[in-house]
Amino acid sequence: MWEVFGYDNEQNKSFTYKCHRVVLATGTSDSPNVVNVPGEFSHMGKVFHCLTGFEKAIEDLVNKNADFVDDVRAVDPVLIIGSGFSAFDAAICARNYKIPIIHQIRKNAISVERLLNRVYYPEYFELKELNELQQSLYKQCLEYTLSEIYMVWGKLYVKLVSPEQEVVTHQVSLVAILTGSKADLSYLPLSYQNGKALAVDPTKEIDSKNNSIHINPSSHEVLKAAQGLYALGPLVGDNFVRCTLGGAIAVTSHIAKSTH
Ligand SMILES: Cc1cc2nc3c(=O)[nH]c(=O)nc-3n(C[C@H](O)[C@H](O)[C@H](O)COP(=O)(O)OP(=O)(O)OC[C@H]3O[C@@H](n4cnc5c(N)ncnc54)[C@H](O)[C@@H]3O)c2cc1C
Repeated sequence: MWEVFGYDNEQNKSFTYKCHRVVLATGTSDSPNVVNVPGEFSHMGKVFHCLTGFEKAIEDLVNKNADFVDDVRAVDPVLIIGSGFSAFDAAICARNYKIPIIHQIRKNAISVERLLNRVYYPEYFELKELNELQQSLYKQCLEYTLSEIYMVWGKLYVKLVSPEQEVVTHQVSLVAILTGSKADLSYLPLSYQNGKALAVDPTKEIDSKNNSIHINPSSHEVLKAAQGLYALGPLVGDNFVRCTLGGAIAVTSHIAKSTH
């Protein structure tokens, strides 16, 4: 039997469930990766580690800046760091409002070649074309490294280091650090070590691409846990909504057929 302890924020009281089965479906977005540079956590409302916060800040920026120069919004560029879906979606969001973008990308990141594919991701591919045609709107900085974020007289600056070790400073409006995230499974029993003990490789953190929760693929039961624990979605490496549905059916079908 599993016991689930929680707190109901609306009713302001704690609750406990006792149940035979628990399905883990908490995703892998709760603990964003950080880049560990000075200033990363000093500029609230300007530096973001999640796409939703950045998108809201973009709307504010747009509401306050209505002017254009050469068809580009007259604001300092936004710096976007990362080569995955979140980073490219952030770039698309800023591009839609014609906000200038500096996009720091790791050239050898496996995902980049895949994401900049004309057939699979035409919107992202448009960014590649923009980088070649209109760098005033969208400029990719391949293999640059962010070294510092700082503020002078209310203006935000970033220092980027080029592959040749040249330091380049840019004045920017916002910074989005979208370099992936990990699951927060601290709600599990301590013995599961924030989920690590349930992973395919228990020496590493759970993540959606390289080290998912080890399950029986036909039932989605967690293999390294007591009976009745299931997992779904990015926690088991199913990173698209359409893949998660198969997992949900596997779990419900297994529960429906179980006699215990
Ligand atoms: C930028 C981006 C773009 C994407 N684009 C696509 C796309 O175009 N097509 C597609 O199919 N997929 C896309 N995905 C993937 C898709 O978002 C995921 O596959 C899907 O959201 C996974 O669903 P989930 O419910 O398992 O996890 P999530 O959507 O991550 O939901 C987990 C939920 O659990 C909650 N939670 C966490 N911990 C606790 C706790 N202790 N107690 C209670 N609640 C908790 C979280 O707050 C969250 O609401 C994209 C992902 C990203 C990041």
